[in-house]
Amino acid sequence: MTASDWRKTLKQLKNKPEKLRKFLKHNKPKERKFGIAARKCIRCGRYGAHISSYGLHLCRQCFREIAKEIGFKKYS
Ligand SMILES: [Zn+2]
Repeated sequence: MTASDWRKTLKQLKNKPEKLRKFLKHNKPKERKFGIAARKCIRCGRYGAHISSYGLHLCRQCFREIAKEIGFKKYS
């Protein structure tokens, strides 16, 4: 299970309250204040290659895809 989709398991565990309680106690990813897992892409949820300049909070792949639409211009 990737860290980006751990909330998906909550949907499955909704009908099993005791298992849900155990999952939240032992397997829930930590809330982080700093480090690589503290920031993730707002578009796809990736952790790596984060761009936070200009308040973008995108990964490099998403930035590449939507840079033109949001007004960035390539000079070289
Ligand atoms: Zn992304």
